[in-house]
Amino acid sequence: MMKPVRSNSPLTPEEFQRQLSDFVRQHFQSRAAQQPETQPADTGDESGARSGADRFQFNYKPRDIKAFLDRFVIRQDEAKKVLSVALCDHYHHVRLALEGKETPHYAKQNVILIGPTGVGKTFLIRSAAELIGVPFVKADATKFSETGYVGGDVEDMVRDLLRLADNDITRAQYGIIYIDEIDKIAAASTASGRDVSGRGVQTNLLKLMEETEVPARSPNDIAGQIQAMMDMTQRGRKAPSTINTKHILFIVSGAFDGLEKIVRKRLREAAIGFAAKEQPLETPEEVLNAAQTQDFIEFGFEPEFIGRLPVRVVCHALNTDDLYMILKNSEGSIIRQYEQDFAAYGIEVLFSDEGLRRIAERASEEKTGARGLMTVCERVFRDIKFELPSTAVKRFVVTPELVDNPVAELAKMLADPNLEEKAVARQVVEEFARRFREAHGIEIRFTEAATERLVAEAIEKKQSVRDLCATRFKDFQFGLKLIVQNSGQKSFVIDRDTVEAPDRVLSDWVVASYRRSDHPDKQPDN
Ligand code: ADP
Repeated sequence: MMKPVRSNSPLTPEEFQRQLSDFVRQHFQSRAAQQPETQPADTGDESGARSGADRFQFNYKPRDIKAFLDRFVIRQDEAKKVLSVALCDHYHHVRLALEGKETPHYAKQNVILIGPTGVGKTFLIRSAAELIGVPFVKADATKFSETGYVGGDVEDMVRDLLRLADNDITRAQYGIIYIDEIDKIAAASTASGRDVSGRGVQTNLLKLMEETEVPARSPNDIAGQIQAMMDMTQRGRKAPSTINTKHILFIVSGAFDGLEKIVRKRLREAAIGFAAKEQPLETPEEVLNAAQTQDFIEFGFEPEFIGRLPVRVVCHALNTDDLYMILKNSEGSIIRQYEQDFAAYGIEVLFSDEGLRRIAERASEEKTGARGLMTVCERVFRDIKFELPSTAVKRFVVTPELVDNPVAELAKMLADPNLEEKAVARQVVEEFARRFREAHGIEIRFTEAATERLVAEAIEKKQSVRDLCATRFKDFQFGLKLIVQNSGQKSFVIDRDTVEAPDRVLSDWVVASYRRSDHPDKQPDN
């Protein structure tokens, strides 16, 4: 039991710091003494710098990055190209800077990504950051307030990069900061003048995008302060104190509702002014692609702010076909996650193409881009995920019926745990007949009753239908060929009786075929 500390007066900050130092020294110094010193003692420079420079390799070409993004992100080809070029430019520059060969007056390739929600904007950047191997932080512009007191502080994003870079200052200094909903801090002119708070946040962000030193520990972060003190006591080196933002890549994004109208208006006015005969721009993407700095300023951004974002990329909305392609072809497809989730219970889920298409159609109605796929899948699989793991069902197929009415389809599965297994087994019986025809040129057709019988028997004996068919009809290849020779009959119907007594039926057929060969006018039974 710890003794409660009694104190008559509250601690002063200095007293608290002294007690904390004593505590850390007492508890950690002896252990620190046993540890080999792996890092050089602080010599005034930031010890992470050298390790980061040694590690950072960047040899990609734009096509390499685009090819990687293609594996995950469906469509958005123009965006992928422009981003690949911007990322290559930026990280070649970073590499040179780390080698001490920095080009002076380099204009950083910060990016504005324009597009509706759920179309892959974040996914593009997150995937690229993973490929390049740099820390990546995402935040919403709406959570920042000008002072940092109410909402978050823009500098917290930089500290988050440091945390993600395992406190390696150099790595944090060339990470990527992604700020969504940037359009919400555009200080559009209103009747009462400009929205001052949005402008204040823009000013704060502008400082980061240019170059500033951000304290590695927030003054409000007690845990961080303690950590810094422990590092100091343990390793005898001072933790680096600031992060320079010069080489951090900033990517801002938003839907920019209303920007299209501004651009169209400008284009119309220009067309009148110069009687231009240019092709009119049709799609929203085409119009947004034509957005210029002045349009963003009219939208409500400060000229200096927008001037720091030279690369502009438009992502377009996704239609049903795109959503289907995402499910089917993206390496990040949500269906892989469902396959894994069910596999954890030994359940195999098979997605039919028609089922995937129906999910895409339903998702499209949500109007939230690919996020709609998650919404729909969550709804479809909610009860199934809850119920199936505790049943004997080991496999099921996602059909359009299941997507439309998961509750009813689940009820069917629960009523007959072998329902899906039977459906698959029936297909295997058909497959057996098809292969027999291909291999021997003889048609065999199973009646519904015969198929049912085989499937039921296979399930009962826990045997595969394929093996069951192979052993049950092992003499048919030879016997039927004999019949073909005797009578020319090339097509046979296998009924329930044949399944139950194959040898007797086959020998009856063979005997009859000999008879028929004696009396060619007699019709075969089958
Ligand atoms: P936003 O455009 O709002 O940033 P996200 O990139 O966060 O949207 O998309 C949400 C999720 O939807 C992603 O994590 C990804 O799984 C999926 N997704 C969105 N767009 C695409 C796309 N074009 N290709 C593949 N998956 C996508």
